[in-house]
Amino acid sequence: MRCGFCANSAIYKRPYEGAALCKTCYLKNIEEKIRRTISKYDMLRYDDHIAIAVSGGKDSLTLLRILRKVERRFPKARLTAITVDEGIRGYRAEAIKLARRYCNELEVDHVVVSFRELFGTTLDKIVRSKKQLSPCSYCGVLRRRAIHIGAKRVKANKIATAHNLDDEVQTILLNIFHGDAKRIARVEPVLIDPAGRFLERIKPMCEIPEKEVALFAHLAGIEFQTCPCPYLKTALRNDVREMLNRVEQKHPGTKFTVFRSMERIRDYLKAAMPPAELKNCRNCGEPTTQALCEVCKTLDVTPR
Ligand code: SF4
Ligand SMILES: [Zn+2]
Ligand SMILES: [Zn+2]
Repeated sequence: MRCGFCANSAIYKRPYEGAALCKTCYLKNIEEKIRRTISKYDMLRYDDHIAIAVSGGKDSLTLLRILRKVERRFPKARLTAITVDEGIRGYRAEAIKLARRYCNELEVDHVVVSFRELFGTTLDKIVRSKKQLSPCSYCGVLRRRAIHIGAKRVKANKIATAHNLDDEVQTILLNIFHGDAKRIARVEPVLIDPAGRFLERIKPMCEIPEKEVALFAHLAGIEFQTCPCPYLKTALRNDVREMLNRVEQKHPGTKFTVFRSMERIRDYLKAAMPPAELKNCRNCGEPTTQALCEVCKTLDVTPR
């Protein structure tokens, strides 16, 4: 099999479009695709200070590598990596080490924020004391807040996360499974709060399938954490991931079809379901639609 771009030996053939690529063209092609997504959704400005959420996995380290290249071309832009230590025994320490090492190699500032420091607890403790929801539900709520706090601490004006195509499609389906119609429209490549209460969030890899990110990280020689989080298997997301992968295997291109369908209906959904009005959490003052924000509820704070 020959590369469709340069006629060298191909190492990968895209099942959903038939293109075969050699190693060099593959690496270049993924970078170009991410740059195209950045420009299509107008994700970056020349003077952005981007806080990038870096977990130490393949997705975030790949994004770090590519955003570092992009940022180097803009002298006024800045990049800071933020790693969240949720307090997951036997798992997070290795990821932090890998994240720190790659940040050093790329000369990117690296900051670690922990649940223990910010919330006085760890995910392991929360999981032991609360059984109503899956660990990922608690983790997701606290992680989002932790990244936001970390980004504000370093005075970033924007947060970049490494959500890939699979993550986005899984989230769309999960919101449907949970009956959370309002959130379906909020799965988007750029999230902006017009009132400025939340930092802008961008997802430059939202059009790259997970499998292709993994191949990129592998070919680029990035050392990333391979062992999965011990709580992953309990998550509904894991079942949705397996289901989607089975469908994609039989019907290549399905994930892109769901993503593009969402692109077409998002504005109608938003217009039909405007977001609820935000007030301030009675405990921490952060914006929320209820008396207590999700973080304070997770931490079992009693309303004042
Ligand atoms: S798999 Fe779930 S619990 Fe583990 S880090 Fe991810 S969101 Fe948190
Ligand atoms: Zn080639
Ligand atoms: Zn709160």
